[in-house]
Formats: sequence, structure tokens, C-alpha cells
Amino acid sequence: MRRIVMSKQKSGLIKRILKDHFDGFWKLNAYRFPKSYQADIKETVEKAIRFGTTDLGCSRYECLGCEGTPKPVFVCFTCKSRFCHKCGKKYTDDWSDSQQEKIFDVPHRHMVFTIPKEYHNRIFYQTLLQINYQSLV
Ligand SMILES: [Zn+2]
Repeated sequence: MRRIVMSKQKSGLIKRILKDHFDGFWKLNAYRFPKSYQADIKETVEKAIRFGTTDLGCSRYECLGCEGTPKPVFVCFTCKSRFCHKCGKKYTDDWSDSQQEKIFDVPHRHMVFTIPKEYHNRIFYQTLLQINYQSLV
């Protein structure tokens, strides 16, 4: 029983942190982000804060076949943002499922190579693409 309560508290922690601190953070740091991104960033965070409330809209479900006056159930719409920890998790799971349908059903390894920032340039990427192409053909 205690475990369920702790889980509920944790699930709202990020939302509470955003709710309590985003406005202050944004007032001090908005200038650090490109102007063209600022409206999207603010909108995305505000959606994540309103996640799970009727602010984003909701559907009402009730059984019309039940006797008496059944209580309707309201299901709040999600924000559908990858930034939101719940919607982002769903997005990642869906993406992972779709990728699994595309890859060959054979044993394989997934490897990620990182490149030092100093090598992030067009010539390096062109050379890397050529080497990759040559190794495949
Ligand atoms: Zn969300």
C-alpha cells in the first residue's frame, strides 16, 4: 500500500518541479535560446505542466445502459510532446516497436559511436559516409 502512494508522488515530481520553477527559470534564461525556438519551448513546457488536467481537453465516458445515474468517467487528453515524461515514454516505445518491425529478424548488435566535437564538420561526415558505403558494398 505504501509503495503505491510513493509511486503516485514520484509520478508528479517532474510536473511539480516545472510548475514551481519554470517561470522563474524562463524569465532569467529565455534569452539563452534562439528567438525562433522560444515560443515552442514555452508552449511545450506549459503543455507538460497541464498534462493530466482538463486544460488540454478530455473525453467523457458513461454507460447509458446502466440503471440509475452512473458516474461519468473523464479521460484527459495527453500533450503528445516528446518533452513530457509520460508522452515522451510512449513516443519512444512506439518508435522502438516500429523500428523492430523494420529490422531483420536476425541476431545483431546495436552500436553507437561518438565523435569528438572537433571532428563535427562536413568533410569528416562525407569521409565517414564514403567509408560506410565502401564497407557495405
Ligand atoms: Zn504529455
